[in-house]
Amino acid sequence: MTPTNCLFCKITRGEIPADTVYQDEFLLVFRDLNPQAPQHFLIVPRKHIATTLDIADTDMELIGHIHRVASKVAFELGFAESGFRIVNNCKGDGGQTVWHLHFHLLAGRQLNWPPG
Ligand code: 5GP
Ligand code: ZN
Repeated sequence: MTPTNCLFCKITRGEIPADTVYQDEFLLVFRDLNPQAPQHFLIVPRKHIATTLDIADTDMELIGHIHRVASKVAFELGFAESGFRIVNNCKGDGGQTVWHLHFHLLAGRQLNWPPG
């Protein structure tokens, strides 16, 4: 059972709408509400995992799948060649605001390094 009051659980359950570009039985990929690049998606597992620190040994396949889906979306939406960035913000200093594991997929402009 997933938390009733978690924003991303609500989105994965379809209770809150999102601009979804890919979904399967394990995860959803949808556009970020406040995009930081011309292409900005969130890769969100259906399973409620609060942070990267809460990833369990039994989640290994899921974490691998997330990265395979990132490349699939990159090819399908046309930014595989130009490149992209995958970001996970973990807890306070990482800048995490939604406490349901997610990976930002950013593309469509030259991204700066180091990040702010
Ligand atoms: P975090 O700061 O936790 O790494 O990322 C959370 C992201 O979720 C932010 O980039 C924020 O813009 C996005 N976000 C917050 N609420 C919503 C929402 O209701 N819908 C969508 N699509 N994105 C959201
Ligand atoms: Zn959740």
